[in-house]
Amino acid sequence: MAVVYLDNNATTQVAPEVFEEMAPYFSSLYGNPSSMHSFGGQVGRTLAQARDRVASLLGCQASEILFTSCGTEGDSTAIRSALEAQPEKRHVVTTKVEHPAVLNLVNHLVKKGYHVTLLSVDGQGRLDPEELRASLRDDTALVSVMYANNETGTVFPLPEIADLVKSRGILLHTDAVQAVGKIPIDLKTLPVDLLVLSGHKLHAPKGVGALFVRKGTAFRPFLIGGHQERGRRGGTENVPGIVALGKACELAAAGLEAENTHVRRLRDRLEQGLLAAIPETRLNGDPAERLPNTVNLSFKFVEGEAILLLLDQLGVCASSGSACTSGSLEPSHVLRAMGVPFTFAHGSVRFSLSRYNTEAEIDFVVREMPKVIERLRSISPFTEGDHEMPACTC
Ligand SMILES: *Cc1c(COP(=O)(O)O)cnc(C)c1O
Repeated sequence: MAVVYLDNNATTQVAPEVFEEMAPYFSSLYGNPSSMHSFGGQVGRTLAQARDRVASLLGCQASEILFTSCGTEGDSTAIRSALEAQPEKRHVVTTKVEHPAVLNLVNHLVKKGYHVTLLSVDGQGRLDPEELRASLRDDTALVSVMYANNETGTVFPLPEIADLVKSRGILLHTDAVQAVGKIPIDLKTLPVDLLVLSGHKLHAPKGVGALFVRKGTAFRPFLIGGHQERGRRGGTENVPGIVALGKACELAAAGLEAENTHVRRLRDRLEQGLLAAIPETRLNGDPAERLPNTVNLSFKFVEGEAILLLLDQLGVCASSGSACTSGSLEPSHVLRAMGVPFTFAHGSVRFSLSRYNTEAEIDFVVREMPKVIERLRSISPFTEGDHEMPACTC
């Protein structure tokens, strides 16, 4: 059975062009880029080219890019560096809808005695700039606001946020893992200090990412060791991964327009098709300010997990916001922060597309999904007025 892969915010297929470019670095071109000999030196030049390609996609200088192992490492490095570089400042501002790579880190920081303000969002997942303004203090070390939300695709107004935060001279970090490659980002005009991306969310493999550190920003390394990355991250470089990330960024730069036409058109076709065909369905997130590839829908009175199981039987890969932990189904923290009603929040499904999806795939899902929901609703114990959901059986 062919797989219809609509879970690209979880991870993406490695682009064939990317795979081709990285392959020799697993076999014949195995030199260490730090070596004195030319066999290693040629690998060093390839790393420089990859760095140029990443910088070019973001509109920054190559010297402002350091390679990491993943988005999580980038977020941890950025946030910890900002705090370590300003030991007198103990306050961090972030949002309730961040990825666990940020949220669980700030939870940890609270235990270490830091003060953390979590900004709320409205029903469409939007921040209130006034709440952000009011949260800033003299001892605020860092503001960390994601560029685009992985669950709903909602895009935060980073230019406006950056103006506000930088006018107070406070460091600004953005987790741009979901935004890079999907929407244009220009660090020449966007005054963020620290920005994080991850390879496997933009058609490079897992295990590589990048952190942008604006020139002049005080920086404290997370991995202390060799002089790699000009002393900012020790450890022999993941050469094939970095080559792949460079190529993926080059492809993304060339394909941004397609992302915004082909992918958006398919996403809209899916969204409109499902909303029209299935009653008691709502869109989660900002309808307008949203990634072109993401749609998060809630189907009243059904469980997201049950939908995913039936979709899986049809070969369709999607994702639900809720996580089954300790025997109870917790709706996603993002949907909870948005105040999505209980009977909807449990039945949420995220579809996230890529350049590799086809119209035929979308039409297949639009055709099958109403049957899936109908079947689940026919066996659902819930009726209008029910508020309790049963315990999770997984
Ligand atoms: C996937 C993701 C991350 C984590 O990236 P990894 O490379 O998997 O560590 C961080 N933030 C967001 C918004 C993500 O979607």
